[in-house]
Amino acid sequence: MSVSAAGPRLSMIVPVKDEEAAIGPFVARITPVLDALREPDGAPLIWEILFVDDGSDDATLAAIWTAHHADPRIRALSLSRNFGKEAALSAGLDNVRGDAVVPIDVDLQDPPEVIGQMLDRWREGFEVVYGVRRDRQTDSLPKRMTAEFYYRAHNWLSSDKIPEHAGDFRLLDRKVVEVIKVMPERNRFMKGLFAWSGFRQAAVEYDRAERAVGTTKFNYWKLWTLAIDGITSASTVPLRVWSYLGSLIALFALIYAGYVFVRTVLYGADVAGYPSLMVATLFLGGVQLISLGVLGEYVGRILVEVKHRPIYVVRERIGGED
Ligand code: UDP
Ligand code: MG
Repeated sequence: MSVSAAGPRLSMIVPVKDEEAAIGPFVARITPVLDALREPDGAPLIWEILFVDDGSDDATLAAIWTAHHADPRIRALSLSRNFGKEAALSAGLDNVRGDAVVPIDVDLQDPPEVIGQMLDRWREGFEVVYGVRRDRQTDSLPKRMTAEFYYRAHNWLSSDKIPEHAGDFRLLDRKVVEVIKVMPERNRFMKGLFAWSGFRQAAVEYDRAERAVGTTKFNYWKLWTLAIDGITSASTVPLRVWSYLGSLIALFALIYAGYVFVRTVLYGADVAGYPSLMVATLFLGGVQLISLGVLGEYVGRILVEVKHRPIYVVRERIGGED
């Protein structure tokens, strides 16, 4: 944890998509908080903010330029189109220089005041200090319930447990950042990658505020896609259950066949049984389609991975030559 030569100690990564109205208030709120941070010897802590403009269609980039001119510690990358928040975070991790790195949302839902506590835990030797939401009052009931269900399902299926109620707002030591950077996969489910990387982890509790300006960029369909990405990248259990389910059904079918045989020998054949046949056919057809669909999810992801395209494309940089 030595101070790297003249580089910033703390890097904030801020992914933004269509947030022109949020940049100003965010910078105004976080700058005094970062300026108040100190090194253990009392010297001011050197920091930088890296915005990652994730293909915004509004004046987000202009707002970032304004902020950069007012304070050159504010830099930015602008991606060539919308690659999604996970890709934007990857772009950020590849381009920051700090010994400690903190991704944060621009909408001020993650309170900057918590960063000081994160730094304290980091200095105690923790390499990942994640923020845990004290409650989810600011989320709607359906969102809370689906989130709860998702964490349960993920952690049940995968051996890399992701902490519940923790978002992307967390402090990462340089060591962790370097591990994430060399992970080759295109599918960037960040919470899964963090969970896989291990290291000494600590939690800091905080209250998540309401979005200060603008609207959420995640609808339920996007969240569903993210959830599927998360599970398929962290677990192969969904691929394997079908063999077990298939074996069970086959075993049941064999037993049933024996029963039918004995019954026919004893009492002769009859043509009843149309409903049960229909049920069995439809049920098995459904199960087979589901299993094919699950295979498709994985095969589709293999296709994306083998194409080996870059995770994001940078169009423009604001400030900082590295
Ligand atoms: N974001 C992004 N790319 C996207 C969608 C969102 O960079 O495709 C950014 C967004 O600008 C914000 C952060 O990700 O800074 C969190 O998004 P949001 O607040 O909409 O998510 P929520 O808090 O509703 O989960
Ligand atoms: Mg938000």
